[in-house]
Amino acid sequence: MPETQTTPSLTPHDPSPAPAAAPSPAAAGAALAAPPPGPAAVRHVFDFAEGHREQAALLGGKGANLAEMTRLGLPVPPGFTITTAACREYLRTGAEPATLGGEVSAHLAALEERMGRRLGRGAAPLLVSVRSGAAVSMPGMMETVLNVGLTDSSVHSLAAWAGDERFAWDSYRRLIQMFGATVLGVDSGLFEERLSRARRAAHAPTDAALPAAALRDLAGEFQELVRAEGRRAFPQEPREQLDLAVRAVFDSWQGERARLYRRQERIPDDLGTAVTVCAMVFGNLGPDSGTGVAFTRDPATGQRGIYGDYLQNAQGEDVVAGVRNTVPLSELARLDPASHAELRRITAVLENHYRDLCDVEFTIERGRLWMLQTRVGKRTAAAAFRIACQLLDEGLIDEREALRRVTGGQLARLLFPRFDEEAAPAPLARGIGASPGAAVGAAVFDSATAAQWAEAGRAVILVRRETSPDDLGGMLAARGILTSRGGKTSHAAVVARGMGTPCVCGAEALEVDAANRRLTTAGGGVVREGEVISVDGGTGRVYRGEVPVVPSEVMEYFERAGQAAGAGSAGRAAASRAPQAAAPGAGAGAGAGAGAGELVAAVHRLMGIADRVRRLDVRANADTAQDAARARRFGARGIGLARTEHMFLGERRPLVERLILAETEAERREVLRELLPLQRADFTGLFEAMDGLPVTVRLLDPPLHEFLPDLTDLSVRVALRGAREAGHAGSAGEGAGAGDAGGAGDAAGRADARLLAAVRRLHEQNPMLGLRGVRLGLVVPGLFAMQVRAVAEAAADRALAGGTPLPEIMIPLVGTVRELELVRAEAEETVAGVARARGLALRIPIGTMIELPRAALTAGRVATAADFFSFGTNDLTQTVWGFSRDDVEAGFFATYLEKGVFQVSPFETIDVEGVGALVETAARAGRAARGDLKLGVCGEHGGDPDSVRFFHRVGLDYVSCSPFRVPVARLEAGRAAAGA
Ligand code: ADP
Ligand code: MG
Ligand code: MG
Repeated sequence: MPETQTTPSLTPHDPSPAPAAAPSPAAAGAALAAPPPGPAAVRHVFDFAEGHREQAALLGGKGANLAEMTRLGLPVPPGFTITTAACREYLRTGAEPATLGGEVSAHLAALEERMGRRLGRGAAPLLVSVRSGAAVSMPGMMETVLNVGLTDSSVHSLAAWAGDERFAWDSYRRLIQMFGATVLGVDSGLFEERLSRARRAAHAPTDAALPAAALRDLAGEFQELVRAEGRRAFPQEPREQLDLAVRAVFDSWQGERARLYRRQERIPDDLGTAVTVCAMVFGNLGPDSGTGVAFTRDPATGQRGIYGDYLQNAQGEDVVAGVRNTVPLSELARLDPASHAELRRITAVLENHYRDLCDVEFTIERGRLWMLQTRVGKRTAAAAFRIACQLLDEGLIDEREALRRVTGGQLARLLFPRFDEEAAPAPLARGIGASPGAAVGAAVFDSATAAQWAEAGRAVILVRRETSPDDLGGMLAARGILTSRGGKTSHAAVVARGMGTPCVCGAEALEVDAANRRLTTAGGGVVREGEVISVDGGTGRVYRGEVPVVPSEVMEYFERAGQAAGAGSAGRAAASRAPQAAAPGAGAGAGAGAGAGELVAAVHRLMGIADRVRRLDVRANADTAQDAARARRFGARGIGLARTEHMFLGERRPLVERLILAETEAERREVLRELLPLQRADFTGLFEAMDGLPVTVRLLDPPLHEFLPDLTDLSVRVALRGAREAGHAGSAGEGAGAGDAGGAGDAAGRADARLLAAVRRLHEQNPMLGLRGVRLGLVVPGLFAMQVRAVAEAAADRALAGGTPLPEIMIPLVGTVRELELVRAEAEETVAGVARARGLALRIPIGTMIELPRAALTAGRVATAADFFSFGTNDLTQTVWGFSRDDVEAGFFATYLEKGVFQVSPFETIDVEGVGALVETAARAGRAARGDLKLGVCGEHGGDPDSVRFFHRVGLDYVSCSPFRVPVARLEAGRAAAGA
């Protein structure tokens, strides 16, 4: 079987049937494993006419899509592609495959035959471009070398053939410049210096105005420069130019920039790059020639048409390099109506074929249009939603495909407040958007200052070259974080994401000088400590001054649109029936114009589709009626985790202290009696906000000492009081007032001493693994019973008031079925008692969290005492890995990510191999023991896109996540059902 058939193919450029947008890095990492080495006689070179778009893994995105355009009969200059497999062999062995040279010769001969011209020889010398192209788009790879084949002699033939001296010398100086810089390692700045000197001497405003003689002189100067600075002289043998350029592309895979980029984007290191060799067409042949880039539709609005830039009499990257001012494509319609019409025709063919927005590169050579590249185009999150809906309306894709075209990550980006781009100045620099969000503050260059200023109430942005664990204090205090080094997995990025703080990292154009408390921009601008900057952790842009922030119109929509957008089963139907209900005009209210209205409408529509197709239900983690109400507006269909510990803080803390200090049974019962009505009121509020939807109440989980004062603080207080009292005792004969004060002090002192003893008694080396969860319930008499009673009474109250409360009771940290049986027996008795007393039937399911490996491994037995399982994947990750999250995440995770121990934090995305396997095992065993066992997830993974799709796959019933993540989870659950 030819290797091409066995090669997995997945690339962001690959439009179908995979999602249009770039796959998440994790997914890409998994799917992009290098194909196994083929048999001895594998082919390493394929003509454009031999390949197709599914072959990005073998031919690179560029090669595969050039082949596809060739297959479609579009005007692509002929050429061939050397495979990534050849590159891999080169990287492995240090030498090109033995047969490669021969294969290249054969394909080159065929190309020459077809063109009726020979590479760099004869009266009409053939020239080619040598282009890199990996399976995934990879900035940092070698730049393309154009005009390969030109030599001191063929430049004359070219001039004669074209009847244009200037063109020939321009092409030659470009070749020496590009070849010198990218293949022979000469500093490209040195060429630029000579170029601008020549421009000045010729009084030429741009390169295009340089006369032939000046370009000829430059070609000579450039060759001298190469001889002096390069690894060797500029080669005068065309085939040697080609071979050296191919090898340089291979080598560039291992270049510093490429490796850095791969690490950031989690692209495997062993994919290799393809090399595409393509016959040159010339945009620099005069005013009837030119080069351009185009999108098949507006990448911001989705509007169909063609959008792009064109530059007359130019070659290659000139159009994006800003050497001259480009004109919009509408201008091309005037300059060259025939080529413009042809371009429109071709982009329509591409749209219909790829069924997505494509971007293209093209060149016009003396009135003839040539296509040089296409791929499914990058787009912003907002554009992704709008374009998916446009394509749906145009009948190019169906609803499920539309869902696959947007991601939860994109939706999450749309929910953050954002800078008002229209009011923003030109950015100072652009780095990697590592943690989304918009932040404004005074630039500070060290952690201590950040903490001090923040303490004093100032908003600060912490600016560092890179951060280390020592910077944690400053990072916590900062509104935003900016670094000039490091990528998406740098310390700054990981920690910032963990804290939800906006972060831009790797803004390499900025020079951060912490010692002198300032940063310098590429243009030489300086920002000093205290000057205000704005950082956009989504786009990676950094601005001087305060860019105004506007709330996200999509967030406003969710805040407003609860009823229509899918809260409750009725809401779900309404969402799909009445897509107009909440959307139109919604954006206008945000003052963001019609574009925003269209975005909101697109989000609304795709959410409706997701709600209709998804199998997973989405609940929220919410502890208060307010959060519950928001979650419901965001489309949550119940609460999957209501933590009760928050209900014991604040003014109730003294009650908990008394509970802990109680010396007699009667005292303890008295405290619990006082707590009962407070808890009942908490639950009544939750049940009311979630009327008709399930509310899972987790009984108290954290260790009791978390409710007591800190050991050190208390010790100091007691010690100080002791010292003071010793002082009082020394000064005898004081008045009555002093005596009274002493009495009150004594009482307080005694209380503190008792408290200190309790804190000491309860102190644990390892609280996470100590007396908490179900263990508390079994050790502290009456505590769980009080909570269960409060749940049951609140439910009874609500039912009697005409509501439909659907409480569920969840027992945390169970390791063995026996623990659950004990707690369950007591709970059932309590519920039955309340039901009897109130004269109504109460059915309250009782289940457990699965957050210890032992519970997962014995899930079949645990299920005999549980009505439901809820996987507590935060603690399950901690206990499976033996990680204490707080200690490891800020501690050494950056190093672990750097070293590739994992590609993403297991607290962010479920560790499928380990934690995920346990979830799957436990789900299966639980269901086997009890067919109607309800299965959910209540860890933070419940709102993580990749994890949601995993939970769908293993057959859980619902995920539960923070209210703000509910829309993301709904969308991803829909995408999972649609096969994403
Ligand atoms: P990149 O990956 O940076 O886009 P490309 O290989 O696409 O690099 O090429 C760089 C520039 O050179 C692009 O503008 C492209 O259109 C142009 N180019 C590449 N090959 C040819 C060719 N055979 N004829 C004319 N222009 C070309
Ligand atoms: Mg290109
Ligand atoms: Mg837990």
